[in-house]
Amino acid sequence: MNHVLHLKCLICGRTYAPDEIDYVCPLHGSDGIVDVVYDYDAVGRRISRQQLRHNGDPTIWRYKPLLPVSPDAAVPPLAVGGTPLYAAPRLAAELGLRRVWVKDDGRQPTASFKDRASALAVVKAQEKGATIVTTASTGNAAAALSGLCASVGLQNVIFVPASAPQAKIAQLLVFGATVLLVEGTYDDAFDLCLQAAAHYGWYNRNTAYNPYMSEGKKTASYEICEQLGWQAPAAIFVSVGDGCIIGGLHKGLKDLLALGWIDRMPRLIGVQAAGSNYLAEAWEKGENVLTKPPIAAHTVADSISAGLPRDRLKAMAAVQETGGAFVAVSDAEILAAIPTLARGSGVFAEPAGAAAYAGLVKAVDKGLISVDETFVLLITGSGLKDVQNAMVSVTNAGNQPHHIAPDMADVQQVVSQLRS
Ligand SMILES: *Cc1c(COP(=O)(O)O)cnc(C)c1O
Ligand SMILES: [Zn+2]
Repeated sequence: MNHVLHLKCLICGRTYAPDEIDYVCPLHGSDGIVDVVYDYDAVGRRISRQQLRHNGDPTIWRYKPLLPVSPDAAVPPLAVGGTPLYAAPRLAAELGLRRVWVKDDGRQPTASFKDRASALAVVKAQEKGATIVTTASTGNAAAALSGLCASVGLQNVIFVPASAPQAKIAQLLVFGATVLLVEGTYDDAFDLCLQAAAHYGWYNRNTAYNPYMSEGKKTASYEICEQLGWQAPAAIFVSVGDGCIIGGLHKGLKDLLALGWIDRMPRLIGVQAAGSNYLAEAWEKGENVLTKPPIAAHTVADSISAGLPRDRLKAMAAVQETGGAFVAVSDAEILAAIPTLARGSGVFAEPAGAAAYAGLVKAVDKGLISVDETFVLLITGSGLKDVQNAMVSVTNAGNQPHHIAPDMADVQQVVSQLRS
C-alpha cells in the first residue's frame, strides 16, 4: 500500500481513485492534468527527518513513503537522485549575492533531471504489466526513459523532433529504443505520441499527461531542503519548457510544508527562453493559460522549447502560489551563461541548464530578489548533451584553443601571453 488518497483534476476538482483512471480526468482530456493527493498523517507515520538521517540510500527511493509506489515495489537499478548541491561563492560574489547553491542534476544516470520522472514511469509501467513504454520528448525525457527501460529490459518507443541534438539521439539508439524522428516540432511529436499510445495500448510517460511524472520530479525539492538542513532557500531558479519540473518542485515543497519539515515556502522563479516564453508572457499579462493559444517556439535551448507548455496549470500555480516570478532570457544570454556558470562553479550545463543562471542574472538586474538571501540554481542537464552549442558559447566568449606545432617554442609563445 502507498499513501495516495486520490487523483484530483486541476480543472474541475473531481477526485478519482488511483485505479479509476490511468492518466487524465476523463472530462477534460489532455488539459485535465491531475494532482496526486496523499494522506500526510499516514506518510508521517512511516518517514521522518530523523529516520532519513540514518537512511544510507542516497537515491530518490529514500523518500518512498512520499511516492506513489508500494513499499515493496521493485525499483530500477540505476541510481537516480542524490545529486550534489554545491556552494558557489564566486558566482554569488560576482552578482553581489550572499549565498548561491548549484544543484547539479547533470549528474543523473542519463545526464538530465528527467531521470527522476522516468524512474517512476518504469515502476508504474511494471506495476501495470506493460510491455512497451512510450514518450514524446525534446530529447532528455526520452533518453531518461530509454536508459531506465534498458536497466530493467523494458521495450520503448520514442517520438522526438528530428532536430534534437545528436548526443540525445545517440543515447536513445545506444539504449536500444525504437526511435521515431518526427519531421516537426516537439508539440507535433507530443500529439502523435498520445495518439499512438492510445491506439496500441502502450504505457504513456508523457509529461503533464502521466500524473506520476511530477511526483518523481518533486524529489529534487526534498533533496535541496534536506541538503540545506531543512532550511528552505529563499528562491529556486529553474528553467521552464512544459512546466513539469517547476510544478514538481512546488509539489515537493508543499509536501514538506504539510509534514512540517520546512517552515517557509521558497519562491519559485521560472526561467524561459525569450523565443519560447508562453508562460512568462501569460504571467506578465495575466492571461488564462487554458485559453491562450500556442506560440511558435524557437530557442537554442532545445529542452525548453515548447509552444504549448503541457503542464501550464501546475507551472502557473507554482509561480503564483509561491510569490515567485517568470523571467525570459535571450538565446545570447543563455549561451553566455554556459561558460560563466562553468568557470564560476565547475558545473558544465546544456543550454536549458545554464538558463537557470541567466535567469538569476536577470532577476538581480530587475531587482526581483534581495541580495542577502539564499538562492538555489537547479542545473537540469549536462553540457555534454549539446557540445555544438557549448562550442558556440565559448567562441562567443572569445575563448579559443591555441593551435600549435609540437614544439616548445610554440608553447612558450602561448605561455608568455598568460596573465600571471
Ligand atoms: C525538460 C527540461 C527542462 C524543462 O522542464 P519542463 O518540465 O519541460 O519545464 C529544463 N532543462 C532540461 C535540461 C530539460 O531536459
Ligand atoms: Zn476534470
